Amino acid sequence: MLGCVIHGRGDLRVEVLAEPAPGPGEVLVAVRYGGICGSDLHYWRHGGVGDFRLREPMVLGHEVVGTVLAHGSPDPSGVSRGAEAAVHPATPCGACPECARGLRNVCRDARYLGSAARTPHVQGGFAARIVVPAAQVRPLPAGLPLRRAALAEPLSVALHAVRRAGPVAGRRVLVTGAGPIGCLVVAAAKAAGAARVTATDLLPAALGFARAAGADTTVLAGDPETAEDQAGRPPAEEADVAVEASGTAAGLDACLRGVRRGGTVVQLGMLPPGRSPFAGNLLVGREIELRGAFRFDAEFDDALGLLAARPAFDRLISAVAPVTEAESAFALAADRERSCKVLLDFES
Ligand code: ZN
Repeated sequence: MLGCVIHGRGDLRVEVLAEPAPGPGEVLVAVRYGGICGSDLHYWRHGGVGDFRLREPMVLGHEVVGTVLAHGSPDPSGVSRGAEAAVHPATPCGACPECARGLRNVCRDARYLGSAARTPHVQGGFAARIVVPAAQVRPLPAGLPLRRAALAEPLSVALHAVRRAGPVAGRRVLVTGAGPIGCLVVAAAKAAGAARVTATDLLPAALGFARAAGADTTVLAGDPETAEDQAGRPPAEEADVAVEASGTAAGLDACLRGVRRGGTVVQLGMLPPGRSPFAGNLLVGREIELRGAFRFDAEFDDALGLLAARPAFDRLISAVAPVTEAESAFALAADRERSCKVLLDFES
């Protein structure tokens, strides 16, 4: 069977891997689609993401859906053989203080598919067959096509970020960065009843996807590299809530300047490694609440329900490529002028 293994910066290989066998409490899944995430692209282009560095070869991928092929013994209940299913990529430890407090998404000992956060790394889902704990497998709701279900993981991230922002119903929301995650934040905020969602990005093509996701207003942000006075130029109207989804200091600056006094800024995008500069005095003088959002937990089930109800999410899937063309698919996913979410197809 084929899988996508990252060996280091710029070294992505499609390799023949040994087919795994499920152990007790585990499920063997035939992966059909895997969504290429910004973090997969970071491992490919930079050899790491945020403060996590690659130390050994790792199968990438954590946005995977497929068909349940077999159960280990004893037979776990809940997912029948042959069922189409989405894989929740996180296994919290269940024993640490965060897990005890219900903050399972920031579990200090979590396993997450295709992540170098711990060593040895947790191998990912970009392989034709994977074995995962049965508790991570969710049968798809009726009417949800497998292809659209591949958005469940990134949509869960977006739903969690919107939840971290507090109630958004009737409020004005600013989203900086209109990559796949930013677009899904737009959709999540609209689904939560936001009155007006404004998306900003440096690229007109990305703003087109943000409009497809439901953005009411899109703003072409100034290029912070070339025009200092336009860096992070905020939209004219102040937002109640801002979600930073570009993972850049300029995006955070735009959020701090674009949110109203007493408003909330959620940092969702993973910033560059180490320290990031930010306009801390805005936080003080305007009493802005700055919060982080990391991964998700139960939002995965909400995401599946939302995807089943809204076929419009299909517009955010801009390409599906066979696994044998993984490298060009990664290049396409990294080119935001040409793509939003790109899926790998492991069956073709
Ligand atoms: Zn834990």
